Amino acid sequence: MTDRYAVIGNPVAHSRSPWIHAQFAQATGQDMEYVRIESPLEGFAQTVDDFRRRGGCGANVTLPFKEAAYRYSAVLTHRARAARAANTLQFAENGVLGDNTDGAGLVRDLVSNLGCAMAGIRVLLIGAGGAARGVILPLLEAGCAQLVVANRTPARAAALAAEFASNERAHPLSATGFDGLAGASFDLVINATSAGLSGAALPLPATVFGRDALAYDMVYGHDTPFLAQARAAGARACDGWGMLVEQAAESFLLWRGVRPPTAPVLAALRAV
Ligand code: NAP
Repeated sequence: MTDRYAVIGNPVAHSRSPWIHAQFAQATGQDMEYVRIESPLEGFAQTVDDFRRRGGCGANVTLPFKEAAYRYSAVLTHRARAARAANTLQFAENGVLGDNTDGAGLVRDLVSNLGCAMAGIRVLLIGAGGAARGVILPLLEAGCAQLVVANRTPARAAALAAEFASNERAHPLSATGFDGLAGASFDLVINATSAGLSGAALPLPATVFGRDALAYDMVYGHDTPFLAQARAAGARACDGWGMLVEQAAESFLLWRGVRPPTAPVLAALRAV
């Protein structure tokens, strides 16, 4: 019987996940289908319950339900616990496993696709929302020497860093507002804000982009003022398509036990 998966969100019509997972299934010979499910805003648990009753094996979860998916899960991976959010659910007889593959997807894109050696580098992470929280532990685990979280509302950056204070890997982590970035310089600058979606530029000093820096915007599908700022400062600029594809591949690996090839999928998405 064909195994069933879904992406659950609201809205979800725009999601590229069904197409990405169809490519993965074809490339690895997996007998599975993957559909979109739009859940009512107040009905996430009911939506997942229904999908499980209809034979669903697992699901990806997108905005605005990643925290609800975290609460729904009976068992959580350590990366879902650190993110306080789940983007991947695996259904089993004895309950639901919640995982978060966003951070692993980002690090894999940085390391494997973009050739960024993470050990010992200085990283600036801009933003203090769910996307930023989801990548902090994987970035620390990848071995960066410095991880500065900067946010428009500095108190949110401080609160986010404080969440990780008890983690044994947290010593490279600190927080600041944009004012605190004057004179600072980084090897990797990651934009985890939604500013690019509204075309807003970030008030970053050009000096944050260090020599040979890589600038990464989690937003995908259109060029952003952040990427333009980075290019103007001489940095290499990359959008978030790779993170999207690699987090999907991490979910696929969890569900199917096989890592799908991502390069052709990424190339096809970028070519559209
Ligand atoms: P969120 O929880 O709404 O967080 C929004 C963040 O953006 C906050 O830190 C906010 O600062 C900041 N912000 C918004 N507008 C700004 C502006 N004009 N100037 C400066 N800062 C601004 O959103 P999220 O869930 O973290 O997602 C952030 C982005 O990551 C989204 O665009 C999402 O599409 C993207 N994302 C991509 C992937 C991928 O696979 N590529 C995965 C996950 C997320 P304040 O705290 O000051 O309000």
